[in-house]
Amino acid sequence: MKEIVLRLLKERSPEYVSGEEICRLLNVTRTAVWKHIQALRESGYEIEARPRAGYTLTGIPDRLYPEEIRDGLSNRFLGRKIYYFDTVSTTNDKAKELARQGDGEGTLIVAEEQTGGKGRLGRKWFAPKYKGIWFSLILCPPVLPPEANQVTMLAAVAVASAIKKETGIEAGIKWPNDLLVGSKKICGILTELSAEMERINYLVAGIGINVNQDETDFPEELRESAASLKNESKRKIDRVRLIQTTLAEFERWYGTWLEQGFAPVLARWKEMSVSLNCPVRISAPNNSWDGWAEDIDGDGALLLRLPGGELKRVISGEVSLRLS
Ligand code: ADP
Repeated sequence: MKEIVLRLLKERSPEYVSGEEICRLLNVTRTAVWKHIQALRESGYEIEARPRAGYTLTGIPDRLYPEEIRDGLSNRFLGRKIYYFDTVSTTNDKAKELARQGDGEGTLIVAEEQTGGKGRLGRKWFAPKYKGIWFSLILCPPVLPPEANQVTMLAAVAVASAIKKETGIEAGIKWPNDLLVGSKKICGILTELSAEMERINYLVAGIGINVNQDETDFPEELRESAASLKNESKRKIDRVRLIQTTLAEFERWYGTWLEQGFAPVLARWKEMSVSLNCPVRISAPNNSWDGWAEDIDGDGALLLRLPGGELKRVISGEVSLRLS
């Protein structure tokens, strides 16, 4: 009901909608209408009431509310079902919990803040309130478990495309899961999997995009290595539009991947990559290799040419890559 009232106010704005009309449309009492208006105000919507004229919407809050994300989203399945949290430990943990309880393909879990955000190797991911887009998608692709990391690469392509569309900023992809602007990280992606030998039960693609942080919003130790879209473009970015475009791009690339396989995704990934045909250092917990990032194979593994000429195949699991 609240969503219907909101939609009506949005459609008519800047005109006023009379309380009477809302009563009639929703078939409720004046008191009920007043309660919905109050609830919207408590969510941060600015609504002016004028005697005899009714209500008009004068401001929309900077929140990733499901009703805002859905409004204008033309996706077929991705992001049709949304769970929204003001604060959460991690959206990936919530997504896994919901997937275990039966939520399926395309479910979106979004939070304004994560208090326990993590990177691939368990390192802390900084996700402050209202400043970024911190979300996870539940997917159940009909592929074998080893192919799951292709979704990470697909996600990188989708997010980079959305960022370009919404802000004009060209983010580069750093293998396997980061988006960079210049040399600074603007987005991290963490894919987690529940699978059996031959089958994926569900996959959770967690994505964190730094959107409206100012430089001073980052902890000291990240200021050299992290960027936000606001900082790069010198303007505040509409988070709702960006997540909508990201969901649209994701659904499009996911469809391409399911229909045509990994090749078109990989081709686009390579075009957007900043960690190919350049010297890199690969670090594993007890070892590291310097070499030339020569190519990505059909499974998404990095092919590293070592100084002695040998070609080393690196899978993303326990390593991190540094551009040297
Ligand atoms: P990588 O895959 O690059 O090795 P992770 O995926 O493990 O790194 O991400 C965690 C790292 O990202 C942390 O060690 C930290 O340096 C950095 N980091 C944490 N939060 C942010 C953020 N919001 N923006 C950019 N970088 C961040």
